[in-house]
Amino acid sequence: MRRKLAAGNWKMNGTLADLAQIEALKAAHPDPSVDLLLCPPATLIHAAAGLVRDHALRIGGQDCHTQAAGAHTGDISAAQLADAGAQAVILGHSERREDHEEDSETVRAKARAAHEAGLMAVICVGESLAQREALNTLDIIGGQLSASVPDTATGENLVIAYEPIWAIGTGRIPTPDQIGEVHDFIRARLERRFGAGAGRSARLLYGGSVKPDNAATVFAVSNVDGALVGGASLTADEFSPIIKALE
Ligand code: PGA
Repeated sequence: MRRKLAAGNWKMNGTLADLAQIEALKAAHPDPSVDLLLCPPATLIHAAAGLVRDHALRIGGQDCHTQAAGAHTGDISAAQLADAGAQAVILGHSERREDHEEDSETVRAKARAAHEAGLMAVICVGESLAQREALNTLDIIGGQLSASVPDTATGENLVIAYEPIWAIGTGRIPTPDQIGEVHDFIRARLERRFGAGAGRSARLLYGGSVKPDNAATVFAVSNVDGALVGGASLTADEFSPIIKALE
């Protein structure tokens, strides 16, 4: 049985004052029956990690460099994330693939670096609307998966987030059948490549406009082990009902 996982991605939002949301989440879920992960901006990781030492909530980063250290101004390594208290990192989010021209080979190198630093990698894949309309969704997802997931993956250190680009921050969400088709495909691909370990145990999250009012529908879909939540993870008031729908 895979443990369910609710993950929040704060993106470039949040200052020290917003750490109050972490306290509120802890209070709302004193003993969660699902895994919880929150990925604030890098500036807040150390302080956030300090707040969850007495709680199951884990803190993660939103990106890392492929190298452990060196002359890379402005970048942060996986080892540095771990040192700051992170236990996971989101990699290959479509906003990074677009804004920073990250290709799947780079994502794979970052995921390997994350694994070597002991972090769980949440690797994002997803098609654009044009790709879906051209009936290329599974081809795109298959290509991203095989190129982005490193051989260092295990059932514990690999999470895949399926995030259709057209559903991120738009309020548009695929039908349960559309989500199920992609998640079943990802599961089959992982099992074919990794067998029983990472193939069967890696968790698959859906992401893109998950809100309190659609979470239960998403979580009922086969091979959906949780969600990667953007906007609705910014406040405990919105994130908490999504977590409850998973519990
Ligand atoms: P959203 O973002 O929930 O705001 O659509 C999801 C994500 O990009 O991870």
